[in-house]
Amino acid sequence: MPYGASETRYSNMTYKRTGHSGLKLPLISLGLWYNFGGLDPFENGRAMARRAFDMGITHFDLANNYGPPPGSAEETFGQLMKKDFHPYRDELIISTKAGYDMWPGPYGEWGSRKYLLASLDQSLKRMGLEYVDIFYSHRPDPETPMEETMSALDSAVRQGKALYVGISSYSPEQTQEASQILRQMGTPCLIHQPSYNMFDRWVENGLLDVLDQEGIGAIAFSPLAQGQLTDRYLNGIPSGARATKTERVWLTPADVHRNIEKIQKLNSLAEQRGQKLSQMAIAWVLRKPQVTSALIGASSVAQLNDNLAALNNLSFSQEELNQIDTILMS
Ligand code: NDP
Repeated sequence: MPYGASETRYSNMTYKRTGHSGLKLPLISLGLWYNFGGLDPFENGRAMARRAFDMGITHFDLANNYGPPPGSAEETFGQLMKKDFHPYRDELIISTKAGYDMWPGPYGEWGSRKYLLASLDQSLKRMGLEYVDIFYSHRPDPETPMEETMSALDSAVRQGKALYVGISSYSPEQTQEASQILRQMGTPCLIHQPSYNMFDRWVENGLLDVLDQEGIGAIAFSPLAQGQLTDRYLNGIPSGARATKTERVWLTPADVHRNIEKIQKLNSLAEQRGQKLSQMAIAWVLRKPQVTSALIGASSVAQLNDNLAALNNLSFSQEELNQIDTILMS
């Protein structure tokens, strides 16, 4: 069936300004780290991407290495652009990143100019795009001078291959330094992409303050702690769930076992709020004014729908926030 985007796609989503920039992002964005690779069923990814855009999710987040195999999520997205989203390019914010291991040899990872600009060219080819909206340095490089990495981001913009630039997983100090260099170059840092969820609160120790000072937005990745902050694991570890995927070890059964008591308590609290745990977890990251968007993943349209319903209740009483803190510290 040829795709035509829903006429009502802008009726329910809220768009929030990213830092001090002119760019607004949807409160919920969709990431293609999992479930869009070369080994995943194309039609499932396609159904999720279509549903996302129909519901006002204008932002799709990628990276050079998403798959598996690395690069294949960008190829899948290229197919989606060609088959479904081509007429809507100007309604979409598409990001990609370079930083992790992508090709053999000394120029296939980290933060050199050589790697970042070659990787961006490869990403554009795989996605069939002339430019991305946001190009990120995916991780700080302890060896490459910060000036070199930032000047590569600045070049990407000057070459017309990216509209904005961002950084991911940079510490507060590194973020401040990167931001100052980029501002001097005339390409302000738009956005920082850190992990942030109830089990991983590092951004609260300084990063959010730096983002405030520098006028940079935040897009929180893995707001559901990779599925732990949902009902996915309440009754054990189902086959096919992310914690069973041994080809990638970012979430293990041991992580789930360690957290399960907290997950159950948080789930009860979400029920008292008339929400699912996944919805409360998304609302919880969005409570911070610096957080522009919650960057979720999903493995089905049903999960995506659940997560979109988080927007129905984004507010917390102080009592509820205290209860969450107490559970997390228990
Ligand atoms: P989440 O924390 O949202 O986890 C998504 C997973 O949780 C899904 O794949 C699914 O797992 C499960 N899930 C989602 N919704 C539900 C639901 N309603 N009910 C039950 N289970 C649910 O985010 P991700 O870890 O996927 O990360 C999101 C994006 O963030 C990535 O795609 C990527 O774009 C970005 N990212 C960036 C990183 C960086 O270094 N900058 C690192 C990691 C991610 P299941 O498969 O078990 O169904």
